[in-house]
Amino acid sequence: MNNSKIWLSSPHMGGNEQKYVQEAFDSNWVAPLGPNVTGMEQDLEMYLANQASVGALSSGTAAIHLGLVLLDVQAGDTVLCQSMTFSASANPILYQGATPVFIDSEWDTWNLCPIALEEAIVSEIAKGTKPKAIIAVHLYGVPYQIEAVRAVADAYEIPILEDSAEALGSSYKGQKCGTFGDIGVLSFNGNKIITTSGGGAIVTPTAALKEKAIFFATQSRDAAPHYQHSEIGYNYRMSNICAGIGRGQMEVLDDHVAQRRLMHDFYASIFEEVPGLTVFTVPNTDYFANYWLSAILVDPEKANGMTRETMRLALETENIESRPLWKPMHLQPIFEKYPYYGSTVAETLFENGLCLPSGSNLTVDDRNRIKTAILNLFA
Ligand SMILES: *Cc1c(COP(=O)(O)O)cnc(C)c1O
Repeated sequence: MNNSKIWLSSPHMGGNEQKYVQEAFDSNWVAPLGPNVTGMEQDLEMYLANQASVGALSSGTAAIHLGLVLLDVQAGDTVLCQSMTFSASANPILYQGATPVFIDSEWDTWNLCPIALEEAIVSEIAKGTKPKAIIAVHLYGVPYQIEAVRAVADAYEIPILEDSAEALGSSYKGQKCGTFGDIGVLSFNGNKIITTSGGGAIVTPTAALKEKAIFFATQSRDAAPHYQHSEIGYNYRMSNICAGIGRGQMEVLDDHVAQRRLMHDFYASIFEEVPGLTVFTVPNTDYFANYWLSAILVDPEKANGMTRETMRLALETENIESRPLWKPMHLQPIFEKYPYYGSTVAETLFENGLCLPSGSNLTVDDRNRIKTAILNLFA
């Protein structure tokens, strides 16, 4: 039987990517600007139903960093951040010399808990600093509690930086993720739902704000014949080659979303009958998830002593990749000295959660191997 590696999430080309890259070579637009960059931005704006402007950047991390710059986060400021996330959500807070304050998750969406969020705001204000921004994440493509988080943000007039790196193609009440924040962030890293090999985008409510982001992303060059600079600049623009891959990927984005959702349904049907195992699923029909990664939660007490680690190791022997959920930021050596608000939801998710192979390029054969491996484990 075929025993090649089944990956958690790997790049999946649609076919037209090379055509756009070839065009870049043919026209010698081998630079961090050009028709593919403009085309990719237009494709994304259309995909987001023209609710926002999009600036293509070198990575999602760069987009988060520029988002904080646009929100005027400076040294000494405080930024609230969902703890249950990838470190790229939080690192740019430190790039700015600001202080991260981490917030627990709630059980429905595994994202920012609005109650802990408000508690943190009240407490930080009492300590003398009003937080400058809120970083909210759509974990594994499941939208956070959009209305509850927005209500808290508005009550205290703190802007939201929406980390939608995992949620291109997800939506809430029909509105696309990426367009809910005061600024939004997308990622096209190799493992994401579409890829430019490496890349990202900043999503802004106005074209003027996008222009400002691109100004920062291209070394903050003032209007002058020589190189003149009045503000700190960055080299964060997407290259026209990467954008060529992105334009090809935009043609298959909806197909990727459908395939990832199919993987989620596949796991839901396998685990339906297994006590102590739950597949991470949206709380109700207002939420539409791209299910970038399918994740499960194992309750060892109800699952006959099965743990996520036993499962991970058993899958590994079958050459099937799986991975624990993101380790919360407040438990990371680099971040543990910063304040944290909430209880142990994020920690419990980390201890008992596992991400399973979710790629849009997995075959029927791959699914059969995964299913057999799981059923053998519970036999
Ligand atoms: C991938 C990811 C990022 C970073 O995006 P890059 O393009 O890899 O820099 C940020 N936040 C989250 C939640 C991510 O999953």
